[in-house]
Amino acid sequence: MSERSPEPASEPAPGRPAGTGTAAGGVLAAVLAFALIGAVLWAALALGPDGVPGQPDSRRPAASTPAPPTVSAEGFAEPVRGRVTSRFGPRPNPFGEGSAPPSTDTDALTDHTGVDLGGVPEGTTFHSVSDGRVLFVEAGGDAGGNLLAVDSGDGHVWRYLHAAPDSTVVNAGQRVSAGDALAGVGQTGTATGVHLHLELRVDGTPVDPEPYLRERGVELGSSWERPRRR
Ligand SMILES: [Zn+2]
Repeated sequence: MSERSPEPASEPAPGRPAGTGTAAGGVLAAVLAFALIGAVLWAALALGPDGVPGQPDSRRPAASTPAPPTVSAEGFAEPVRGRVTSRFGPRPNPFGEGSAPPSTDTDALTDHTGVDLGGVPEGTTFHSVSDGRVLFVEAGGDAGGNLLAVDSGDGHVWRYLHAAPDSTVVNAGQRVSAGDALAGVGQTGTATGVHLHLELRVDGTPVDPEPYLRERGVELGSSWERPRRR
């Protein structure tokens, strides 16, 4: 064996810079400690009031994470405080020129199987209309884009189309309550603008969600506020 250093391979402590002594080291340690505390506080704040990790917080302005909707006495909730931009039924909209904005679903030019809620920023959280179980979460389909379906029993299935990319916060099989967050409003799939296409199917047949919910204490579009902009 050749000569080995009498010193251990790794020194127990790095040599102090000459002349600085332990005082400077103490100051450095204090600064690091404060920086660490600050980082922890910052992370806690960044999680937001919900404290829900795993959401793309940095992409969503505070205005797009509204408080959960109120749940009606009948157990239903408005999915998003949006404006009704297109109603259920055949198109073009029969309510007269100027009363309805242009269609946002190009797949529904002849027969619109749901109701569209728009007028909110992309990523705005939308919530489950009903209690139920998440049937599936489908990413990237043609018509609906990111599509969620919630089975609320008795053959009633609520479908939520066009969710924003990577915004879904539920998984298939999960139980949800009315008012629980599902995902963010987007324009994935066949859509020309940011909106939620809300669809109710009863035994597979689309049913107009507006009167259905009206009879259960929820008036779609009633709480929409025009976004302020300069
Ligand atoms: Zn639609």
